[in-house]
Amino acid sequence: EAKAAGKGRLRFFDPVMQEAIARRLRLEEEILRGLEARQFCVYFQPQFDERQKMVGAEALVRWRHPERGVLAPGAFIEVADAAGLMDRIDRIVLLRACEQMALWARLPALSGVTVSVNISAAQLYQDSFIDDVLQVLAQTGADPARLKLELTESMLITDMPKATERMRTLKQHGIRFAIDDFGTGYSSLHYLQQLPLDQLKIDQSFVRALPDDANSLGIIRAIIAMAGSLGLEVIAEGVENQAQRDLLQQNGCHLYQGYLFARPAPAEEIAAMMPLHEAELSPSRRPAEPEE
Ligand code: C2E
Ligand code: MG
Ligand code: MG
Ligand code: MG
Repeated sequence: EAKAAGKGRLRFFDPVMQEAIARRLRLEEEILRGLEARQFCVYFQPQFDERQKMVGAEALVRWRHPERGVLAPGAFIEVADAAGLMDRIDRIVLLRACEQMALWARLPALSGVTVSVNISAAQLYQDSFIDDVLQVLAQTGADPARLKLELTESMLITDMPKATERMRTLKQHGIRFAIDDFGTGYSSLHYLQQLPLDQLKIDQSFVRALPDDANSLGIIRAIIAMAGSLGLEVIAEGVENQAQRDLLQQNGCHLYQGYLFARPAPAEEIAAMMPLHEAELSPSRRPAEPEE
């Protein structure tokens, strides 16, 4: 009808809108080309216990953009998701994470670390999800018991029965599960109890507000108590200073991830943090693309 057509026409000729749409399309094409040129890679951010021992690492996708340097997911994930390209990125990340885990398993200092992988909603609800995960584990020889999949509350409530069933199946193979950004979504004790979970990750917004913000500390304490009564591990992410770390420890959180300890980095930099003879065993897999 006339009104809708008028609106559509207005939008089409609005130069600001048009530029935004064009930029989005360009980015979409660039992501596609980037996938074909294998520009997507994985950084790892170590996780530590209270004795400063590295106990795990989170796999975080990066795009080695030929002109713009190393890009974090904030620069492309939304567009990739909307364009239906996230499953291709997810596959790369899961494969690289499992390959790396299998390599680390051969180094004494790193053999016990877990590797956490962020799962997207699109990936979780794909029909092939379970087979894909099991196939990558079989193909890489990675230990399923060292793989941790990070899900968010909002992803889970989309289709709780299906999510629960998939988690249970993978759990039978030893795979572990964490809820990422915990405290920012819909959390009910009822569903937490039903899910085969292993870990809650306290969202960094609460950690960032420490040590001064009493409300955030209150929420963190509640999360730690909840994790305790459900028998779940709890880890704080986004720990940037010693005051935050100490307060977390005093309140019963014994696992940490954040810039205070280490930033996300290519796998060989993680190995380089370990004793020299072990670092030498790590293969150099750094692509030729320019650095950040
Ligand atoms: P996330 O899973 O909550 O990951 C933590 C983010 O916090 C990472 O950002 C990490 O670099 C950042 N971070 C870690 N420590 C600190 C700190 O001390 N201070 C601050 N300010 N930030 C810290 P990144 O790598 O940009 O990832 C952002 C988000 O993108 C992730 O949040 C995750 O939701 C998503 N993402 C990353 N990699 C993947 C992936 O492979 N697949 C999917 N589906 N999503 C991913
Ligand atoms: Mg995460
Ligand atoms: Mg998080
Ligand atoms: Mg997040």
